[in-house]
Amino acid sequence: MVDLITQYEKIKPEIDSAIQGVISKAQFIKGPEVVEFEKELASYLGVKHVIGVANGTDALQIALMALGLKPGDEVITPSFTYIATVEVVALLNLKPVFVEVDKETFTMDISKVEAAITPKTKAIVPVHLYGQSVDMEPLLAIAKKHHLPVIEDNAQAIGGTYTFSDGSKKKTGSMSDIACTSFFPSKNLGCYGDGGAMMTDNDELALKIRMIANHGQSKQYYHDVVGCNSRLDSIQAAVLRVKLRQLDNYCIARRKVADYYNAAFAQHPHIITPKTVDYSYNVFHQYTLQLIDTDRDALKKSLEEAGIPSMIYYPIPAHKQKMFDEIGASFGDLSTTDWLTERVLSLPIHTEMQEEQLKYITDNVLKFYKNYL
Ligand SMILES: *Cc1c(COP(=O)(O)O)cnc(C)c1O
Repeated sequence: MVDLITQYEKIKPEIDSAIQGVISKAQFIKGPEVVEFEKELASYLGVKHVIGVANGTDALQIALMALGLKPGDEVITPSFTYIATVEVVALLNLKPVFVEVDKETFTMDISKVEAAITPKTKAIVPVHLYGQSVDMEPLLAIAKKHHLPVIEDNAQAIGGTYTFSDGSKKKTGSMSDIACTSFFPSKNLGCYGDGGAMMTDNDELALKIRMIANHGQSKQYYHDVVGCNSRLDSIQAAVLRVKLRQLDNYCIARRKVADYYNAAFAQHPHIITPKTVDYSYNVFHQYTLQLIDTDRDALKKSLEEAGIPSMIYYPIPAHKQKMFDEIGASFGDLSTTDWLTERVLSLPIHTEMQEEQLKYITDNVLKFYKNYL
């Protein structure tokens, strides 16, 4: 699904010397690379504070902790997401309230959010799924009206942009009270292990986040609140500094792949290609098709036989996961989520794809349908 080896080979001298620099100075934890990376990412995203943490899941957990949510508080989030978004809600004994997604964009259906708000609602967690920005302007208006904080899960859309109705633009991961991202190797900005970051413009929240991520410590050996140990290490930060300089080019490369796929599958009676919306500069963490009246497993298998990987993100939506059997999640109609879960298929997309590869993949998909019909 990704080719991180070819990607590395193109930036090998810079990466190798960055890693070597950390090792030769033995500044593994909280070194200058982390500080510099946090500054550079803050400037890239246009936010005041970036705080490196150990992974994207920790980022989401610490965000909920920093907002002071209490057991039983409700958190509005989609069910159609990677489990981490929702798992941390349950882990903190908060109650997930799942809202439906839009069938065409795969992201939170904003028209369904207000109905999910109750007196117990304490936060909204939109997910920029597959690289597509959530429609943030109406969501932020609802959040403001109800005095609710918003936490963006930007693990899949770093480098993406949202355009407001007045034409102004903001990066995904810069529009909410706290935004979270992951640097898992296959993410759009990936490191060479685990890593994550949190973004905020709020000085007070930034301090609180740093404290929680560091054992609740206000000064050395003074622990004011219960926190955790969640750090971005210096080697990962050094790698990320090199790769951040490539991020815009990586996004362009992904969008070219998406253009190729879109053209190849346009007007196909069984294939719905990802919808382009004016407000979102989609950075295609995944390229995800909806397959209509198709034996998805058969297509997946026929691609596999031709040496082509494909993935179902995600085969079981959060509201149907066994982990929610015991703790009470709350939700209404999630028929679109269920509908999508049964029909989505993601094709390989990454920064190093060649036209021959794309032709081979699209030819094989189209051939499957020719034989199938
Ligand atoms: C990857 C991902 C996460 C979790 O990030 P990790 O670094 O793997 O912990 C959270 N939310 C979404 C939507 C993701 O894709």
